[in-house]
Amino acid sequence: MSQSPVASSLTQPFVFVGDRLWLDFVNTDDARRGVRVDALRDFDALVQWLEAVAVLDAERGAAMRRRAQQQPAGATAALADARRVRAALRALAERGMVAEDVRQYAVSEINRVLGRSAGTRRLEVRSDGSFVRSFVPVGDAFAGLMIPVVESAADALVLGELARVRRCADPRCPRVFYDGTKNGRRRWCDMATCGNRAKAARHRRKLRQEQEEKEAAHVWETVSR
Ligand SMILES: [Zn+2]
Repeated sequence: MSQSPVASSLTQPFVFVGDRLWLDFVNTDDARRGVRVDALRDFDALVQWLEAVAVLDAERGAAMRRRAQQQPAGATAALADARRVRAALRALAERGMVAEDVRQYAVSEINRVLGRSAGTRRLEVRSDGSFVRSFVPVGDAFAGLMIPVVESAADALVLGELARVRRCADPRCPRVFYDGTKNGRRRWCDMATCGNRAKAARHRRKLRQEQEEKEAAHVWETVSR
């Protein structure tokens, strides 16, 4: 998702730095200045996120909101379920390469979501001419919401992408991303935030070092005179 929706990012708390749908979903469990911020604060925020990543179009998003008003308990359960899936996917992103139990649990969560939802898959043409996959659930309207997200995680496993999934090198930053660089050396979730902070810190260290060297040289000059 590098072509993130710029206009909507101004009004929404979502970040799109993961480069994969499932990783962007994990990143809704975010932190600002080391304090945890859950962008999925309620069911409506979940619908907003699904709209922002074009899993739901405006029409289906509106239908989902109406459904949530009619079935508030169902919507609450769907949100809890989305967070549960997200926790499994975060573990997969962070430790899936090294921990087999984490991988197995993620696979069982993926299959739980895929297995309980019935509906029709469709390929649709949008008004701008682009194509979008959609899933029209039957029965439980909320059951299908997580399908594109878990399918994205399933793709990562099928394609063997886990080795390229990283957590941001800033220890206070929980964001995960797919490293699509040629040399596999992407370290930061975002060059504009974490990468820039690291660059500034490196710059400050260098200035300090230069200052110390200057002072040491000065002492040397004084002593040798
Ligand atoms: Zn970061």
